[in-house]
Amino acid sequence: MATGKINVSVENIFPLIKKFLYSDHEIFLRELISNATDATLKLKHLTSIGEAKVEYGNPIIEVKVDKDKKRIHILDQGVGMTEDEVKKYINEVAFSGAEEFLDKYKDAGKDTGIIGHFGLGFYSAFMVAEKVEIITKSFKDEPAVHWVCDGSPEFTLEEAKKKDRGTEIILHIAEDSTEFLEDAKIRELLTKYNKFMPIPIKFGTRTETLPKPEGAKEDEPAPTEEVDDIINNPAPAWTKQPTDLKDEDYKNFYRGLYPMQFEEPLFHIHLNVDYPFNLTGILYFPKLTNDLNIQKDRIQLYQNQVFVTDNVEGIVPEFLTMLRGVIDSPDIPLNVSRSYLQADGAVKKISSYITRKVADKLSSLFKNNREDFEQKWNDIKIVIEYGMLSEEKFFEKADKFALYPTVDGTFYTFEELEAKIKDNQTDKDNKLVVLYASDMEAQHSYIEAAKAKGYEILLMDSPIVSHLMQKLEGSKENLSFVRVDADHIDNLVKKEDTAISKLSDEEKDRLKENLEKVISADKGYTIQLEAMDSNASPFIITEPEFMRRMK
Ligand code: ADP
Ligand code: MG
Repeated sequence: MATGKINVSVENIFPLIKKFLYSDHEIFLRELISNATDATLKLKHLTSIGEAKVEYGNPIIEVKVDKDKKRIHILDQGVGMTEDEVKKYINEVAFSGAEEFLDKYKDAGKDTGIIGHFGLGFYSAFMVAEKVEIITKSFKDEPAVHWVCDGSPEFTLEEAKKKDRGTEIILHIAEDSTEFLEDAKIRELLTKYNKFMPIPIKFGTRTETLPKPEGAKEDEPAPTEEVDDIINNPAPAWTKQPTDLKDEDYKNFYRGLYPMQFEEPLFHIHLNVDYPFNLTGILYFPKLTNDLNIQKDRIQLYQNQVFVTDNVEGIVPEFLTMLRGVIDSPDIPLNVSRSYLQADGAVKKISSYITRKVADKLSSLFKNNREDFEQKWNDIKIVIEYGMLSEEKFFEKADKFALYPTVDGTFYTFEELEAKIKDNQTDKDNKLVVLYASDMEAQHSYIEAAKAKGYEILLMDSPIVSHLMQKLEGSKENLSFVRVDADHIDNLVKKEDTAISKLSDEEKDRLKENLEKVISADKGYTIQLEAMDSNASPFIITEPEFMRRMK
């Protein structure tokens, strides 16, 4: 047996790790299963290139809880480690990694945003265990080894009898972490973090009902069988090619992701890019209600099929956080604060890529099936309108497919609306006047009156559209939104009328002279004729302010 002292300046790493990772103890299981997965995938690679001359087979990872002995076992059939490798990867690397972590994030304890996402890998085991054992046998022809450490820099390393290739990690759960000895707790964690990891993960067994043998009697119970309970789906939809998936596959995946959602998603967007960053995923447009609890089921962020968080703020533009689904990218730095994230170049690119993909998808839905798009409009408009307000790039694209419903239920794009009203609805400044109603009932008589004049009236009744109208007025020239009950809508001009009322300067002077004769100018009225080019009223008589006050 060999004993040794780990070369690290901190006397006892165990309380430090506990303290620094306080907010997120449960991630130990994710980290250990990630290591088991890595070890298995390494073996897969080495056998495929002929470097490991062993049978790869159908390896699984197994998690076992021994409540009586207060232990959790995590077993894999991956590459394993030789004695030298344990010394190198566990003793040196991990401890120096931990030390580096402590150096770098000494003051980070206050910001749980950082800590929550910092994977300390193997040593996160000490957040819940007072003692950790590794029993491992490499795929190389070398004896198995047994490493034991109680979190102090002392460890023991000796030969072990293990015959099968792979690694077993044994956690001796600490008194304050016994919640992790409950099957239900472990199952919850496996489902949360490991549901889509690429190697099958077994947790216990379950009873499967088999088909009845032929000729079995009516009342004879169907035979059953105990089978491994595999908790994960190693090949989730987002890792596949869109061409290999049917609409039903996308819907099934959605149901698996949000088992409590009974409403089907409206449509999905499959993300798939490997340059200049790596990102896959599927986003779904859910049917959004006015219910503000919509944020309960959120987009989940994964890294190589390992769940990281369902807080994608800073990675996905805010208006898209209302969507659901999965994003998987190894290129998102996670050990950093959110404000840093927003400034990170790769994250910025990812965010704008997602925005573009969503806009493109909406645009193709609009082009390919306008009727369907109109039907979905009420369910998707919040996201689109919010996006138009908050992201200029999105505005530019959405401006072509955003719909504006009229009080009669016709849907226009802005361009269509403009074409429809440009000859009939301008004001004295030659501005296009878009009439809208905000309350069909209260404004009923105004709507009818405007309709009688042949005007189009939009129905703009959500709180966000008032901001959108401002945005449109600001970004398009000569445009003004006017509510249907505003008094100056009587003054809208038909283009033909304007043409008739155009007078030459000479004519204007003559008209002014005549008017002054009729209207007594000495009371201070001014007569203004410039407006005549664009207004239904041939001139404006302005009453001076002092006159108004005298009344
Ligand atoms: P990381 O996974 O980021 O490298 P860890 O602290 O999680 O850091 O693990 C340190 C190293 O220990 C791994 O890189 C790997 O070489 C080795 N290791 C850990 N767990 C296993 C395992 N189950 N099988 C084989 N090697 C392992
Ligand atoms: Mg690791």
